[in-house]
Amino acid sequence: MQKEYEGIINQARAEHNLGREGIEKLLSCDGQALDFLFAAADQVRRTFMGDAVHLRGLIEFSNYCESNCAYCGLRESHKTLPRYRLDAAEILAIAGAAVPLGYKTVVLQSGEDSYYSAEMIAEITCRLKEELSLAVTLSLGERAEEDYRLWRDAGADRYLLKHETADAELYSSLHPDMAWENRKKCLYTLRELGYQVGSGCMVGLPGQTLTSLAADLLFLKELDVEMAGIGPFIPNPNTPLAKAQRGTVELTLKMIAIARLLMPQTHLPATTALGSVDSKGRQKALVAGANVVMPNITPNKYRRLYEIYPNKICLDDNPAHCRNCIGGIISSLGRTVAEGAGHSPKEQFTLGLG
Ligand code: SAH
Repeated sequence: MQKEYEGIINQARAEHNLGREGIEKLLSCDGQALDFLFAAADQVRRTFMGDAVHLRGLIEFSNYCESNCAYCGLRESHKTLPRYRLDAAEILAIAGAAVPLGYKTVVLQSGEDSYYSAEMIAEITCRLKEELSLAVTLSLGERAEEDYRLWRDAGADRYLLKHETADAELYSSLHPDMAWENRKKCLYTLRELGYQVGSGCMVGLPGQTLTSLAADLLFLKELDVEMAGIGPFIPNPNTPLAKAQRGTVELTLKMIAIARLLMPQTHLPATTALGSVDSKGRQKALVAGANVVMPNITPNKYRRLYEIYPNKICLDDNPAHCRNCIGGIISSLGRTVAEGAGHSPKEQFTLGLG
């Protein structure tokens, strides 16, 4: 039995490829086979991505949302949540304060908030690039192709839009106002526009099977993403999924490890969600294939209001404290904080960057 798992893991490690059945099999391994899987993923991470861990400073700039995703605390129907929006000057100031802490990338994330016109976001992007020389990742959900194009022209380097689940039936039951086909279309549009594309999924959603999870990994591989965020689903009491079970740390780590075997050059974050369900969750991910951390640099007074799920870590911390804490975690693992912007190592994104 053990030999059989080892065979699949060695094949995946050598070929960076697995079919649905192989993935499902690995998702159900345990004991020694599980240790072997994590060690293989850690080795592939070291070979292809090195020991440096990339930091991305996350700015949660608006918690207004026009969508009603069944799992998310920012959903429009959550009427008692106080809402906030940061303006351009505030976003620039937060990013400016992150530069001396060593950040080379900021991620601007919000709910689906059409208050921000495409032009507003383009201008902020342009200023982050020109005034602060930061790499910019945008994560504003589904928008029109013209918006994505304008932001790319303004200099946005990356776009993060998780596919959430590649199980079309599950996707439609969780997203009453969004369609799986459109999510895919957005992701392929971002790809065509030359963004470094980030996507990803939640693990342990109610109704999600090992076959659904295998489909998630095959979808990420097919899209050939530059970044894949994989985190546990955490039930939020202010959503219709309040009573659902949360995703497990172990299954999430297996997904990250298999993602690393299949996509050796893809950035894989040790997600905040994983750190929120297990105090050592991010450390565990960093030794099972992950090579990125996204510390929160949102000012303290807003953090609590960006409550996509409960008990999010670091709610009382400030950006300098988070930076120190993450630095400590990384060095305790014998790793270093990356110095560059952390672009995708794939050739098309490194050519001409120097
Ligand atoms: N509006 C943006 C940002 C959404 S919030 C967008 O659609 O891209 C960022 C991520 O948080 C989501 O992509 C989702 O994967 C995750 N998330 C939301 N609710 C969650 C929950 N209850 N548990 C775990 N992750 C959740």
